[in-house]
Amino acid sequence: MSPAGKNKPQKKDSKASGPRLTPMLAQYLEIKSQHPGSLLLFRMGDFFETFFEDAQTLSKVAGVTLTSRDAKSEHPVPLAGVPHHAIDTYLTRLLRAGITVAICEQVEDPAKAQGLVKRAVVEVISPGTATAPELVDSPTGHFCLAWAPGSNQMDGWALLDASTGEFRCGQEQATLESLCQRHAVREVIVRESTEPSTLKQWQAAMPQMVINPVNDAWFHPAFARQTLLDHFEVANLTAFGLEDETRTPAAIAAGSVLRYLGSLILKKPEQVTTLRFSSRADRLILDEETLRNLEIFRTFRGETGEGTLIHHIDNTLTAMGRRLLELRLAEALTDLDQIALWHSGIDSALSDRPWREDLRVVLRSVGDLERLSARAASGRIGPLGLKHVGDSLAALHALQVLAPSNGHQKHPIASWLESVDSFHELATIIQQRIAEDAPATTRKPGFIATGVNADLDQCRTIAQDSKGFLAGLQLQEREQTGISTLKVGFNRVFGYYFEVTKKHLDKVPEHYQQKQTLVNACRFHTEELKQAETTILEAEEKADRLETEIFQEMLTLVTSHLANIHAACLKVARVDLMLAFAETAEKNQYCRPVCDDGLVLNIQGGRHPVVEQLLEHDFIGNDTLADGADNQVLVLTGPNMGGKSTYLRQVALITLLAQAGSFVPAESAHIGITDRIFTRVGASDNLARGESTFYMEMSETANILHQMSRRSLVILDEIGRGTSTYDGLSLAWAITEFLNNPEGPRPRSIFATHYHQLTELENDLQGLVNLRLEVKEWEGKIIFLHSVKPGRSDKSYGIHVARLAGLPENVLSRAQEILSCLSSSDQRDLPSMRPVSSHPTAQPTIPDAGQLSLFRESQRDALDALNDLDLEKISPMDAFMWLAKIKKQLEK
Ligand code: ADP
Repeated sequence: MSPAGKNKPQKKDSKASGPRLTPMLAQYLEIKSQHPGSLLLFRMGDFFETFFEDAQTLSKVAGVTLTSRDAKSEHPVPLAGVPHHAIDTYLTRLLRAGITVAICEQVEDPAKAQGLVKRAVVEVISPGTATAPELVDSPTGHFCLAWAPGSNQMDGWALLDASTGEFRCGQEQATLESLCQRHAVREVIVRESTEPSTLKQWQAAMPQMVINPVNDAWFHPAFARQTLLDHFEVANLTAFGLEDETRTPAAIAAGSVLRYLGSLILKKPEQVTTLRFSSRADRLILDEETLRNLEIFRTFRGETGEGTLIHHIDNTLTAMGRRLLELRLAEALTDLDQIALWHSGIDSALSDRPWREDLRVVLRSVGDLERLSARAASGRIGPLGLKHVGDSLAALHALQVLAPSNGHQKHPIASWLESVDSFHELATIIQQRIAEDAPATTRKPGFIATGVNADLDQCRTIAQDSKGFLAGLQLQEREQTGISTLKVGFNRVFGYYFEVTKKHLDKVPEHYQQKQTLVNACRFHTEELKQAETTILEAEEKADRLETEIFQEMLTLVTSHLANIHAACLKVARVDLMLAFAETAEKNQYCRPVCDDGLVLNIQGGRHPVVEQLLEHDFIGNDTLADGADNQVLVLTGPNMGGKSTYLRQVALITLLAQAGSFVPAESAHIGITDRIFTRVGASDNLARGESTFYMEMSETANILHQMSRRSLVILDEIGRGTSTYDGLSLAWAITEFLNNPEGPRPRSIFATHYHQLTELENDLQGLVNLRLEVKEWEGKIIFLHSVKPGRSDKSYGIHVARLAGLPENVLSRAQEILSCLSSSDQRDLPSMRPVSSHPTAQPTIPDAGQLSLFRESQRDALDALNDLDLEKISPMDAFMWLAKIKKQLEK
């Protein structure tokens, strides 16, 4: 929950025994009481002030000095303030700390106010709904997520990025954490009535996340629906795929998050122009754990950048393309036609490099049009920003012209761009009207170009001429008065004046009227100066007004095109991503995969897209054949450091990349479409996360076993390792059998394990295939060949790896001795690794007598005797005697 949520209004206390209640403080408390969950920034002149707990928070979070009002009184009021022009810096710090901020402005001119200046909250900004460039980490998405748990485990969710207007919703059986992990979520809203224990759990699982419980009414189905109908001005929700009653959870989430945004900005969120319903069925969704294990967006250590998949394959040039890439990796495609369209688009882009490069040159100028235009629609943009909108629209037009050239009329890129409006005219208007050297804010005049408006030009000429006239006047007055240092000056309070130093005061003519006295000089005006001043100020004022009007007109124009601009942005994102995939394919030597609806996964010379970039030596490509039939469960053994994890992950990543629409790091790849990729990594590999208990590992594995389908790809790395050897082995064994169960879904699975005993299952389980990572032993050392071969690894080489890691030689030789001892006793004591059954529900078979047995001879004799005992015939006394005999026998 937002720390600001703890900021209780001080009204009652302060009245009862608290500080002196001035009218201003009373006004503050009144406004604060309407925004109890926000930190209130209260405008006072050139400052935003905070009081009481808010002041303490501001001081702590943003490093602002904490002072107090009425310091000497019994009840000083804690106070901290920041200059209004520096507000963005402090806002950023507050929002990053998860605090929601209410901005309270003076809403009347203080000069004209009678008594206390009127103040009102003009906007509330929460961490997930910020839009200003300083507050939004470009180019990643910045989502506020509404979570609406529904019945039948169909939970509704909606994601809204206020900075771009991107608005999506869906419903599925998922966890809140998995949604947050999948998307760049900065804030979550849930029903106010959510159980405190549930809130606590979420907060514990995601300590950095701002989770705000909000008005339950917003989540009411009818209210949420009405919010959507009103916003989009439609009679029903058919256009968004939400009219069907079964989609109610998604509609609730969408309505509530939109209502939430509206309640913060206190006006209609104009930037939100459409809503998309995403259906889980047509996407390959990676769950939270898989995203983490495959290091898609963050490394195991939680870092972004190097080591993550996205970092090493991202060649997008626009923020929109980058965001689409993020979405594609979190939710890849499953529709074969779509996937084929992307692959063939990349293929032909690769065959025409000049065309591709020309397009990419233009793409660089597109900027973050989605965010910029959203900002323009919400009025939060300056002249420079609007100029970028114009330039981006012009670049979009250039792309549209360029795309079909060189015979590419049928290329997906040309078709996408052809299907969107041309904004050539709008671009020209903006480019012509905004001055070349446009300033960032409208506070600085001169942002409208010359030649746009005759009145404006005239005003500027008058102001300019008058300034020339003033320069002439200064010369003239110097000559006439003989005061060589006389100069014309200007300030906001007194306007234009002649300034004369004290030394020359005796020369000041009589018609000079004194305006102001300074330590060393006096300031005067004359009728002539006043007249010039009036002319200049009037002309400047009018010019300001005209500039603002023209600027506003352009904002209105952009707003009226916003829905179409956003539709075009989606296409630009695709263009950028397709060309970026081509770029990555060329640079990293990826191949075009073949995807179909079979179950065969056949990769030749596959590589890990990240590890291959980070290695100093060559990456060894490896083959994979998994088909849900004869090669259904691949059991991979090999020493530590052999390359098992790398291999497992590369198979998952190649599959993901292919379905994301990209080429893949392999010599060839045939990929039968997957619906889910599940990965689990054994407990001890994940210790960095600090939560890798054996329980977690098992519950995640349980989740896979429940959810997997025939089309899934299951990747297990050292599952079962987090417990004792026998426990772990038994679990790994049973899990393998379950994956292979002839009556189960039999998903394509790869299981890397240290339990070499598992490899014996190959003889008994149909479809189980052993693979090993090849190593060479040479002069007592091992060389990792990183090459995956059929068969099983006969040794663990743990001691060799320990040697590589620098363990002292005497420790190593002692370990070798112990190992030899253990290995021979192993032969006696370990249970047979025959499968209990290929059917997990069948009774386990007793190990073969000839096989290695769990029981010693005496134990077996005892068991046999027990078996022969006829309980019908034996008396209690005989039974007791019999038990005593057996016990004695066993004790021997
Ligand atoms: P394991 O899981 O068997 O302990 P890893 O997959 O972590 O081994 O690999 C260990 C290291 O070996 C990697 O960090 C990488 O440097 C190297 N490696 C793995 N696979 C390959 C490969 N196919 N080609 C080249 N080097 C590899």
